[in-house]
Amino acid sequence: MELYELTFSETRRGLKDGTFSARDLVESVLRRNEGVEHSLSAFIRVRDRQDILAEAGEIDAARTRGERLGPLAGIPVAVKDNISTRGLGTTCASRILAGYDPPYDATAVERLGRAGAITVGKTNLDEFAMGSSNENSAYGPVRNPWDLGRVPGGSSGGSAAAVAAGEAVLALGTDTGGSVRQPAGFCGIVGVKPSYGRVSRYGLVAFASSFDQIGTMSRDVDGAGELLAAISGADPRDATASDADVLEYTGSAAGDLSGVRVGIPKESIGEGVDPEVAEAVLAAADVMRSLGADVDELKLEHSEYAVASYYLVANAEASSNLARYDGVSYGHRALGADGLDEIVVKTRSEDFGAEVKRRIMLGTYALASGYYDDYYLRAQRVRTLIANDFASAFERFDVIVTPTSPTPAFRLGEHIDDPLAMYLSDIFTVPANLAGIAALSMPCGLSSTGLPVGLQITANRFMEPMMFRVAREYEAASGPHLGVPEVERTGRDA
Ligand code: GLN
Repeated sequence: MELYELTFSETRRGLKDGTFSARDLVESVLRRNEGVEHSLSAFIRVRDRQDILAEAGEIDAARTRGERLGPLAGIPVAVKDNISTRGLGTTCASRILAGYDPPYDATAVERLGRAGAITVGKTNLDEFAMGSSNENSAYGPVRNPWDLGRVPGGSSGGSAAAVAAGEAVLALGTDTGGSVRQPAGFCGIVGVKPSYGRVSRYGLVAFASSFDQIGTMSRDVDGAGELLAAISGADPRDATASDADVLEYTGSAAGDLSGVRVGIPKESIGEGVDPEVAEAVLAAADVMRSLGADVDELKLEHSEYAVASYYLVANAEASSNLARYDGVSYGHRALGADGLDEIVVKTRSEDFGAEVKRRIMLGTYALASGYYDDYYLRAQRVRTLIANDFASAFERFDVIVTPTSPTPAFRLGEHIDDPLAMYLSDIFTVPANLAGIAALSMPCGLSSTGLPVGLQITANRFMEPMMFRVAREYEAASGPHLGVPEVERTGRDA
Protein backbone atom coordinates (compact mmCIF):
# COMPACT_ATOMS: atom_id res chain seq x y z
CA MET A 1 0.00 0.00 0.00
CA GLU A 2 1.25 3.46 -0.91
CA LEU A 3 0.95 6.38 1.49
CA TYR A 4 -1.25 8.35 -0.94
CA GLU A 5 -3.90 5.63 -0.55
CA LEU A 6 -4.36 6.27 3.17
CA THR A 7 -7.43 8.09 4.41
CA PHE A 8 -7.09 11.23 6.49
CA SER A 9 -7.55 9.34 9.77
CA GLU A 10 -4.92 6.74 8.83
CA THR A 11 -2.57 9.47 7.65
CA ARG A 12 -2.88 11.46 10.83
CA ARG A 13 -2.32 8.38 12.98
CA GLY A 14 0.80 7.40 10.98
CA LEU A 15 2.23 10.90 11.27
CA LYS A 16 1.59 11.01 15.02
CA ASP A 17 3.06 7.57 15.65
CA GLY A 18 6.07 8.35 13.50
CA THR A 19 5.35 5.43 11.12
CA PHE A 20 6.17 7.88 8.33
CA SER A 21 7.03 11.55 8.09
CA ALA A 22 5.16 14.45 6.49
CA ARG A 23 7.91 14.47 3.90
CA ASP A 24 7.29 10.78 3.07
CA LEU A 25 3.61 11.52 2.74
CA VAL A 26 3.91 14.55 0.44
CA GLU A 27 6.50 12.73 -1.66
CA SER A 28 4.05 9.89 -2.21
CA VAL A 29 1.23 12.32 -3.04
CA LEU A 30 3.43 14.29 -5.46
CA ARG A 31 4.61 11.10 -7.18
CA ARG A 32 0.99 10.06 -7.57
CA ASN A 33 0.24 13.48 -9.01
CA GLU A 34 2.99 13.05 -11.59
CA GLY A 35 1.60 9.63 -12.49
CA VAL A 36 -2.08 10.45 -12.99
CA GLU A 37 -2.42 14.19 -13.49
CA HIS A 38 -2.01 14.10 -17.28
CA SER A 39 -5.01 11.72 -17.40
CA LEU A 40 -7.17 13.71 -14.98
CA SER A 41 -6.35 17.45 -15.31
CA ALA A 42 -7.54 17.93 -11.74
CA PHE A 43 -5.17 20.84 -11.09
CA ILE A 44 -4.76 24.21 -12.77
CA ARG A 45 -1.51 24.82 -10.86
CA VAL A 46 0.59 22.61 -8.61
CA ARG A 47 2.89 24.45 -6.25
CA ASP A 48 6.63 24.25 -6.59
CA ARG A 49 7.78 20.81 -5.46
CA GLN A 50 10.69 22.14 -3.42
CA ASP A 51 8.45 24.58 -1.53
CA ILE A 52 6.05 21.77 -0.64
CA LEU A 53 8.85 19.48 0.51
CA ALA A 54 10.43 22.25 2.55
CA GLU A 55 7.12 22.90 4.33
CA ALA A 56 6.76 19.21 5.11
CA GLY A 57 10.34 19.16 6.42
CA GLU A 58 9.54 22.04 8.78
CA ILE A 59 6.54 20.19 10.17
CA ASP A 60 8.66 17.07 10.72
CA ALA A 61 11.31 19.11 12.48
CA ALA A 62 8.72 20.78 14.70
CA ARG A 63 7.32 17.38 15.58
CA THR A 64 10.79 16.09 16.49
CA ARG A 65 11.28 19.11 18.73
CA GLY A 66 8.06 18.15 20.49
CA GLU A 67 6.20 21.30 19.47
CA ARG A 68 2.42 21.46 19.61
CA LEU A 69 1.16 20.98 16.06
CA GLY A 70 -2.09 22.01 14.40
CA PRO A 71 -4.87 19.47 13.73
CA LEU A 72 -3.92 19.21 10.03
CA ALA A 73 -0.14 19.25 10.46
CA GLY A 74 1.58 17.80 7.42
CA ILE A 75 -1.65 16.94 5.55
CA PRO A 76 -1.60 17.75 1.81
CA VAL A 77 -4.66 19.78 0.85
CA ALA A 78 -5.86 20.91 -2.61
CA VAL A 79 -7.70 24.23 -2.95
CA LYS A 80 -10.30 25.03 -5.61
CA ASP A 81 -9.14 27.84 -7.85
CA ASN A 82 -11.99 30.21 -6.96
CA ILE A 83 -10.65 30.57 -3.42
CA SER A 84 -8.09 33.36 -3.11
CA THR A 85 -4.49 32.41 -2.43
CA ARG A 86 -1.81 35.10 -2.33
CA GLY A 87 1.14 34.26 -4.53
CA LEU A 88 -0.54 31.22 -6.04
CA GLY A 89 -2.91 32.90 -8.49
CA THR A 90 -6.68 32.47 -8.65
CA THR A 91 -8.34 32.08 -12.05
CA CYS A 92 -11.83 30.64 -11.43
CA ALA A 93 -10.95 28.63 -14.58
CA SER A 94 -11.79 31.74 -16.59
CA ARG A 95 -9.72 33.56 -19.19
CA ILE A 96 -10.92 36.82 -17.68
CA LEU A 97 -8.82 36.18 -14.54
CA ALA A 98 -5.74 34.91 -16.36
CA GLY A 99 -2.67 36.26 -14.58
CA TYR A 100 -4.63 37.51 -11.57
CA ASP A 101 -2.80 37.07 -8.28
CA PRO A 102 -4.92 38.02 -5.25
CA PRO A 103 -3.23 40.36 -2.77
CA TYR A 104 -4.58 38.33 0.18
CA ASP A 105 -5.49 34.82 1.28
CA ALA A 106 -9.11 33.78 1.83
CA THR A 107 -9.91 33.35 5.52
CA ALA A 108 -10.33 29.59 4.96
CA VAL A 109 -6.87 29.41 3.39
CA GLU A 110 -5.33 31.42 6.20
CA ARG A 111 -6.89 28.99 8.69
CA LEU A 112 -5.60 26.00 6.72
CA GLY A 113 -2.10 27.36 7.17
CA ARG A 114 -2.66 27.89 10.88
CA ALA A 115 -3.83 24.28 11.21
CA GLY A 116 -0.57 23.08 9.64
CA ALA A 117 -1.99 21.87 6.32
CA ILE A 118 0.24 21.89 3.24
CA THR A 119 -1.35 23.36 0.11
CA VAL A 120 -0.53 21.19 -2.92
CA GLY A 121 -2.06 23.41 -5.58
CA LYS A 122 -5.17 24.97 -7.07
CA THR A 123 -7.79 22.74 -8.62
CA ASN A 124 -9.75 22.93 -11.84
CA LEU A 125 -13.45 23.84 -11.85
CA ASP A 126 -16.30 24.93 -14.06
CA GLU A 127 -15.72 28.58 -14.93
CA PHE A 128 -16.77 30.70 -11.92
CA ALA A 129 -18.18 27.49 -10.38
CA MET A 130 -21.02 27.41 -12.90
CA GLY A 131 -21.69 23.85 -13.90
CA SER A 132 -22.17 20.25 -12.87
CA SER A 133 -19.60 18.47 -15.02
CA ASN A 134 -16.38 20.47 -15.04
CA GLU A 135 -16.62 20.79 -18.79
CA ASN A 136 -17.03 24.60 -18.60
CA SER A 137 -13.39 25.28 -17.75
CA ALA A 138 -11.06 27.46 -19.82
CA TYR A 139 -8.39 24.89 -18.85
CA GLY A 140 -10.26 21.94 -20.34
CA PRO A 141 -12.35 19.27 -18.65
CA VAL A 142 -11.41 17.18 -15.62
CA ARG A 143 -11.85 13.42 -15.92
CA ASN A 144 -13.36 11.03 -13.42
CA PRO A 145 -10.66 8.78 -11.90
CA TRP A 146 -13.12 5.86 -11.81
CA ASP A 147 -13.76 6.09 -15.57
CA LEU A 148 -11.81 8.53 -17.71
CA GLY A 149 -14.67 8.69 -20.23
CA ARG A 150 -16.91 10.24 -17.59
CA VAL A 151 -17.19 13.60 -15.88
CA PRO A 152 -16.06 14.02 -12.25
CA GLY A 153 -19.09 16.25 -11.61
CA GLY A 154 -18.86 19.95 -10.98
CA SER A 155 -18.12 22.52 -10.27
CA SER A 156 -15.51 21.32 -7.72
CA GLY A 157 -14.58 18.44 -10.06
CA GLY A 158 -10.84 19.07 -9.81
CA SER A 159 -10.89 18.94 -6.00
CA ALA A 160 -13.01 15.77 -6.03
CA ALA A 161 -10.87 13.99 -8.64
CA ALA A 162 -7.66 14.99 -6.81
CA VAL A 163 -8.85 13.54 -3.49
CA ALA A 164 -10.38 10.42 -5.07
CA ALA A 165 -7.19 9.67 -7.00
CA GLY A 166 -4.80 10.30 -4.10
CA GLU A 167 -3.31 13.56 -5.43
CA ALA A 168 -4.29 15.16 -2.11
CA VAL A 169 -5.62 13.85 1.19
CA LEU A 170 -8.15 16.65 1.64
CA ALA A 171 -9.55 19.45 -0.50
CA LEU A 172 -11.56 22.64 -0.30
CA GLY A 173 -14.39 23.08 -2.77
CA THR A 174 -17.28 25.51 -2.96
CA ASP A 175 -20.96 24.70 -3.02
CA THR A 176 -23.54 27.12 -4.39
CA GLY A 177 -26.03 24.52 -5.60
CA GLY A 178 -24.26 21.22 -5.05
CA SER A 179 -20.73 21.76 -6.31
CA VAL A 180 -19.05 19.98 -3.41
CA ARG A 181 -21.58 17.17 -2.92
CA GLN A 182 -22.30 16.21 -6.54
CA PRO A 183 -18.64 15.77 -7.58
CA ALA A 184 -17.95 14.02 -4.25
CA GLY A 185 -20.78 11.63 -5.13
CA PHE A 186 -19.52 11.08 -8.68
CA CYS A 187 -15.94 10.46 -7.47
CA GLY A 188 -16.76 8.26 -4.47
CA ILE A 189 -15.57 10.54 -1.67
CA VAL A 190 -17.09 12.52 1.21
CA GLY A 191 -18.09 16.13 0.46
CA VAL A 192 -19.61 18.57 2.95
CA LYS A 193 -21.60 21.72 2.34
CA PRO A 194 -21.81 23.40 5.71
CA SER A 195 -24.73 25.56 6.83
CA TYR A 196 -24.78 29.02 5.29
CA GLY A 197 -22.65 31.22 7.52
CA ARG A 198 -20.60 28.38 9.02
CA VAL A 199 -17.49 29.26 6.99
CA SER A 200 -16.33 32.75 6.09
CA ARG A 201 -16.74 33.68 2.44
CA TYR A 202 -13.95 36.26 2.63
CA GLY A 203 -11.69 35.57 -0.32
CA LEU A 204 -14.12 33.19 -2.01
CA VAL A 205 -14.79 34.67 -5.45
CA ALA A 206 -18.53 35.41 -5.43
CA PHE A 207 -20.90 33.54 -7.73
CA ALA A 208 -24.26 33.74 -5.91
CA SER A 209 -23.57 35.27 -2.52
CA SER A 210 -26.70 34.13 -0.70
CA PHE A 211 -25.87 30.49 -1.53
CA ASP A 212 -22.06 30.24 -1.74
CA GLN A 213 -20.25 28.27 0.96
CA ILE A 214 -16.77 26.80 1.07
CA GLY A 215 -16.99 23.06 1.73
CA THR A 216 -14.65 20.18 2.50
CA MET A 217 -13.69 16.92 0.79
CA SER A 218 -11.97 13.77 2.02
CA ARG A 219 -11.99 10.03 1.47
CA ASP A 220 -13.29 9.55 5.00
CA VAL A 221 -15.92 11.31 7.10
CA ASP A 222 -13.52 12.45 9.83
CA GLY A 223 -11.23 14.14 7.29
CA ALA A 224 -14.10 16.28 6.04
CA GLY A 225 -15.08 17.03 9.65
CA GLU A 226 -11.59 17.97 10.83
CA LEU A 227 -11.06 20.23 7.82
CA LEU A 228 -14.43 21.88 8.39
CA ALA A 229 -13.63 22.53 12.06
CA ALA A 230 -10.35 24.13 11.02
CA ILE A 231 -11.94 26.65 8.65
CA SER A 232 -15.23 27.38 10.47
CA GLY A 233 -16.20 30.23 12.72
CA ALA A 234 -16.79 33.94 12.94
CA ASP A 235 -14.77 36.34 10.81
CA PRO A 236 -14.86 40.12 11.15
CA ARG A 237 -14.25 40.34 7.39
CA ASP A 238 -17.49 38.53 6.49
CA ALA A 239 -20.67 39.76 8.17
CA THR A 240 -22.50 36.58 7.08
CA ALA A 241 -20.04 34.33 8.93
CA SER A 242 -21.87 33.20 12.06
CA ASP A 243 -20.38 33.45 15.52
CA ALA A 244 -22.20 30.29 16.61
CA ASP A 245 -19.80 27.92 18.39
CA VAL A 246 -17.78 25.58 16.20
CA LEU A 247 -18.77 22.19 17.60
CA GLU A 248 -17.13 18.77 17.42
CA TYR A 249 -17.45 17.27 13.92
CA THR A 250 -15.24 14.21 14.41
CA GLY A 251 -15.32 11.27 16.79
CA SER A 252 -15.34 7.51 16.99
CA ALA A 253 -18.28 5.44 15.84
CA ALA A 254 -20.32 3.90 18.63
CA GLY A 255 -22.27 1.41 16.50
CA ASP A 256 -25.47 3.05 17.62
CA LEU A 257 -28.04 5.37 16.09
CA SER A 258 -30.91 4.61 18.43
CA GLY A 259 -33.39 7.42 18.73
CA VAL A 260 -32.10 9.16 15.61
CA ARG A 261 -34.96 9.99 13.25
CA VAL A 262 -34.12 9.58 9.56
CA GLY A 263 -36.50 10.80 6.85
CA ILE A 264 -36.50 9.72 3.20
CA PRO A 265 -38.45 11.93 0.79
CA LYS A 266 -40.56 9.65 -1.41
CA GLU A 267 -39.81 11.65 -4.55
CA SER A 268 -36.06 11.15 -4.15
CA ILE A 269 -36.28 7.41 -4.76
CA GLY A 270 -39.01 7.46 -7.41
CA GLU A 271 -39.43 8.48 -11.01
CA GLY A 272 -36.40 9.83 -12.86
CA VAL A 273 -33.95 8.27 -10.43
CA ASP A 274 -31.67 5.47 -11.63
CA PRO A 275 -33.05 2.30 -9.96
CA GLU A 276 -29.55 1.27 -8.86
CA VAL A 277 -29.11 4.64 -7.14
CA ALA A 278 -32.47 4.36 -5.37
CA GLU A 279 -31.61 0.83 -4.28
CA ALA A 280 -28.24 1.87 -2.85
CA VAL A 281 -29.85 4.68 -0.86
CA LEU A 282 -32.56 2.38 0.51
CA ALA A 283 -29.86 -0.13 1.48
CA ALA A 284 -28.00 2.65 3.32
CA ALA A 285 -31.23 3.53 5.16
CA ASP A 286 -31.50 -0.15 6.15
CA VAL A 287 -28.01 -0.01 7.63
CA MET A 288 -29.08 3.05 9.66
CA ARG A 289 -32.19 1.18 10.77
CA SER A 290 -30.06 -1.79 11.86
CA LEU A 291 -28.07 0.65 14.02
CA GLY A 292 -31.28 1.65 15.78
CA ALA A 293 -32.41 4.68 13.76
CA ASP A 294 -36.13 5.28 13.15
CA VAL A 295 -36.48 5.54 9.38
CA ASP A 296 -39.64 6.91 7.83
CA GLU A 297 -40.81 8.47 4.58
CA LEU A 298 -41.73 12.12 4.16
CA LYS A 299 -42.77 14.53 1.47
CA LEU A 300 -41.10 17.86 0.79
CA GLU A 301 -44.02 19.68 -0.80
CA HIS A 302 -42.20 22.17 -3.03
CA SER A 303 -39.04 20.31 -3.97
CA GLU A 304 -40.10 20.01 -7.61
CA TYR A 305 -39.68 23.79 -7.93
CA ALA A 306 -36.22 23.90 -6.37
CA VAL A 307 -34.18 23.75 -9.57
CA ALA A 308 -36.21 26.50 -11.25
CA SER A 309 -36.05 28.73 -8.19
CA TYR A 310 -32.31 28.16 -7.75
CA TYR A 311 -31.38 28.92 -11.35
CA LEU A 312 -33.37 32.16 -11.30
CA VAL A 313 -32.03 33.52 -8.03
CA ALA A 314 -28.46 32.24 -8.44
CA ASN A 315 -28.15 33.64 -11.95
CA ALA A 316 -29.63 36.98 -10.85
CA GLU A 317 -26.97 37.23 -8.15
CA ALA A 318 -24.28 36.06 -10.59
CA SER A 319 -25.19 38.71 -13.15
CA SER A 320 -24.60 41.34 -10.50
CA ASN A 321 -21.48 39.77 -8.95
CA LEU A 322 -19.77 39.27 -12.30
CA ALA A 323 -20.29 42.89 -13.33
CA ARG A 324 -16.95 43.64 -11.64
CA TYR A 325 -15.00 41.94 -14.44
CA ASP A 326 -14.67 44.92 -16.68
CA GLY A 327 -11.17 44.47 -18.04
CA VAL A 328 -9.95 47.22 -15.72
CA SER A 329 -9.90 46.02 -12.13
CA TYR A 330 -8.86 42.36 -12.40
CA GLY A 331 -6.90 39.97 -14.57
CA HIS A 332 -7.01 40.04 -18.32
CA ARG A 333 -7.89 42.94 -20.67
CA ALA A 334 -8.74 42.52 -24.36
CA LEU A 335 -6.22 44.09 -26.68
CA GLY A 336 -7.00 46.76 -29.24
CA ALA A 337 -10.04 48.24 -27.49
CA ASP A 338 -10.63 51.95 -27.75
CA GLY A 339 -12.14 53.68 -24.72
CA LEU A 340 -13.81 52.32 -21.59
CA ASP A 341 -17.02 50.99 -23.17
CA GLU A 342 -15.13 49.07 -25.78
CA ILE A 343 -12.68 47.64 -23.21
CA VAL A 344 -15.60 46.33 -21.16
CA VAL A 345 -17.51 44.87 -24.10
CA LYS A 346 -14.52 43.37 -25.83
CA THR A 347 -12.99 41.86 -22.67
CA ARG A 348 -16.25 40.32 -21.51
CA SER A 349 -17.10 39.02 -25.00
CA GLU A 350 -13.72 37.43 -25.51
CA ASP A 351 -12.94 36.16 -22.04
CA PHE A 352 -16.18 34.75 -20.57
CA GLY A 353 -17.17 31.25 -21.67
CA ALA A 354 -20.59 30.35 -23.11
CA GLU A 355 -22.15 29.15 -19.85
CA VAL A 356 -21.12 32.27 -17.93
CA LYS A 357 -22.58 34.47 -20.66
CA ARG A 358 -25.80 32.45 -20.69
CA ARG A 359 -26.18 32.95 -16.94
CA ILE A 360 -25.42 36.66 -16.99
CA MET A 361 -28.09 37.10 -19.66
CA LEU A 362 -30.65 34.96 -17.81
CA GLY A 363 -29.91 36.73 -14.52
CA THR A 364 -30.13 40.19 -16.05
CA TYR A 365 -33.44 39.28 -17.64
CA ALA A 366 -34.87 37.97 -14.36
CA LEU A 367 -33.94 41.25 -12.65
CA ALA A 368 -35.16 43.59 -15.40
CA SER A 369 -37.99 45.91 -14.41
CA GLY A 370 -41.18 44.45 -15.80
CA TYR A 371 -39.94 40.88 -15.29
CA TYR A 372 -38.63 41.23 -11.73
CA ASP A 373 -41.95 40.36 -10.04
CA ASP A 374 -42.68 37.44 -12.34
CA TYR A 375 -39.28 35.81 -12.12
CA TYR A 376 -36.89 36.97 -9.40
CA LEU A 377 -39.49 37.78 -6.76
CA ARG A 378 -41.52 34.67 -7.44
CA ALA A 379 -38.39 32.51 -7.26
CA GLN A 380 -37.53 34.10 -3.91
CA ARG A 381 -41.04 33.26 -2.64
CA VAL A 382 -40.56 29.65 -3.70
CA ARG A 383 -37.24 29.70 -1.88
CA THR A 384 -39.08 30.62 1.32
CA LEU A 385 -41.60 27.81 0.81
CA ILE A 386 -38.77 25.32 0.37
CA ALA A 387 -37.06 26.57 3.54
CA ASN A 388 -40.39 26.23 5.39
CA ASP A 389 -40.79 22.64 4.14
CA PHE A 390 -37.42 21.81 5.69
CA ALA A 391 -38.26 23.65 8.90
CA SER A 392 -41.32 21.48 9.42
CA ALA A 393 -39.53 18.31 8.28
CA PHE A 394 -36.85 18.89 10.92
CA GLU A 395 -39.52 18.97 13.62
CA ARG A 396 -40.06 15.29 12.84
CA PHE A 397 -36.61 14.21 11.67
CA ASP A 398 -32.98 14.71 12.68
CA VAL A 399 -31.60 14.07 9.20
CA ILE A 400 -32.99 13.58 5.72
CA VAL A 401 -31.36 11.11 3.35
CA THR A 402 -31.61 11.16 -0.46
CA PRO A 403 -29.40 10.26 -3.37
CA THR A 404 -26.87 13.04 -4.02
CA SER A 405 -27.71 12.90 -7.74
CA PRO A 406 -30.30 10.96 -9.72
CA THR A 407 -27.59 9.03 -11.63
CA PRO A 408 -23.93 8.10 -11.24
CA ALA A 409 -21.36 10.08 -13.26
CA PHE A 410 -22.45 10.72 -16.86
CA ARG A 411 -20.23 10.66 -19.93
CA LEU A 412 -18.15 13.61 -21.06
CA GLY A 413 -20.19 15.54 -23.61
CA GLU A 414 -23.45 13.80 -22.67
CA HIS A 415 -25.25 16.95 -21.46
CA ILE A 416 -23.06 19.66 -22.91
CA ASP A 417 -25.60 20.75 -25.55
CA ASP A 418 -28.54 20.51 -23.21
CA PRO A 419 -28.13 22.92 -20.29
CA LEU A 420 -31.54 22.00 -18.89
CA ALA A 421 -30.62 18.31 -18.58
CA MET A 422 -27.41 19.42 -16.87
CA TYR A 423 -29.33 21.67 -14.46
CA LEU A 424 -31.68 18.81 -13.57
CA SER A 425 -28.79 16.76 -12.21
CA ASP A 426 -28.78 19.26 -9.30
CA ILE A 427 -32.31 18.36 -8.26
CA PHE A 428 -31.34 16.86 -4.87
CA THR A 429 -28.52 19.23 -4.00
CA VAL A 430 -29.96 22.73 -4.60
CA PRO A 431 -32.67 22.54 -1.90
CA ALA A 432 -30.05 22.66 0.90
CA ASN A 433 -28.52 25.82 -0.59
CA LEU A 434 -31.93 27.44 -1.01
CA ALA A 435 -32.66 26.76 2.68
CA GLY A 436 -29.14 27.50 3.98
CA ILE A 437 -28.93 24.16 5.80
CA ALA A 438 -26.12 21.58 6.10
CA ALA A 439 -25.68 18.58 3.81
CA LEU A 440 -23.01 16.05 2.96
CA SER A 441 -22.48 13.41 0.34
CA MET A 442 -20.71 10.13 1.02
CA PRO A 443 -20.24 6.94 -0.96
CA CYS A 444 -22.88 4.21 -0.57
CA GLY A 445 -21.45 1.61 -2.91
CA LEU A 446 -20.71 1.11 -6.60
CA SER A 447 -23.14 0.67 -9.48
CA SER A 448 -23.04 -2.48 -11.62
CA THR A 449 -20.78 -0.58 -14.00
CA GLY A 450 -18.31 0.21 -11.21
CA LEU A 451 -19.27 3.85 -10.64
CA PRO A 452 -19.61 5.34 -7.16
CA VAL A 453 -23.09 6.19 -5.88
CA GLY A 454 -23.51 9.19 -3.57
CA LEU A 455 -25.71 9.26 -0.48
CA GLN A 456 -26.78 12.71 0.73
CA ILE A 457 -27.41 13.36 4.42
CA THR A 458 -29.05 16.72 5.19
CA ALA A 459 -29.40 18.29 8.63
CA ASN A 460 -30.89 21.51 9.95
CA ARG A 461 -28.87 24.73 10.07
CA PHE A 462 -25.83 24.38 12.39
CA MET A 463 -26.78 20.78 13.16
CA GLU A 464 -23.55 19.55 11.54
CA PRO A 465 -22.68 17.39 14.59
CA MET A 466 -25.79 15.27 14.01
CA MET A 467 -25.08 15.04 10.26
CA PHE A 468 -21.50 13.89 10.94
CA ARG A 469 -22.64 11.43 13.58
CA VAL A 470 -25.00 9.67 11.16
CA ALA A 471 -22.33 9.72 8.43
CA ARG A 472 -19.65 8.32 10.76
CA GLU A 473 -21.90 5.51 12.00
CA TYR A 474 -22.96 4.60 8.49
CA GLU A 475 -19.34 4.66 7.30
CA ALA A 476 -18.24 2.35 10.11
CA ALA A 477 -21.15 -0.05 9.63
CA SER A 478 -21.18 -0.20 5.84
CA GLY A 479 -17.88 -1.99 5.44
CA PRO A 480 -14.59 -1.18 3.77
CA HIS A 481 -13.84 2.03 1.96
CA LEU A 482 -14.10 2.32 -1.81
CA GLY A 483 -10.34 2.95 -1.83
CA VAL A 484 -8.39 4.77 -4.51
CA PRO A 485 -9.12 3.71 -8.11
CA GLU A 486 -6.27 2.70 -10.34
CA VAL A 487 -6.82 5.40 -13.02
CA GLU A 488 -6.42 3.58 -16.33
CA ARG A 489 -4.19 5.71 -18.47
CA THR A 490 -5.45 4.15 -21.67
CA GLY A 491 -8.96 5.41 -20.96
CA ARG A 492 -8.06 8.90 -22.06
CA ASP A 493 -7.99 7.88 -25.72
CA ALA A 494 -10.91 5.49 -25.38
N1 GLN B 1 -24.38 22.91 -10.66
C1 GLN B 1 -24.87 24.09 -10.02
C2 GLN B 1 -24.75 25.27 -10.97
O1 GLN B 1 -24.32 25.08 -12.03
C3 GLN B 1 -24.13 24.33 -8.76
C4 GLN B 1 -22.87 25.06 -8.92
C5 GLN B 1 -22.17 25.29 -7.63
O2 GLN B 1 -22.57 24.76 -6.59
N2 GLN B 1 -21.15 26.12 -7.66
O3 GLN B 1 -25.09 26.36 -10.65
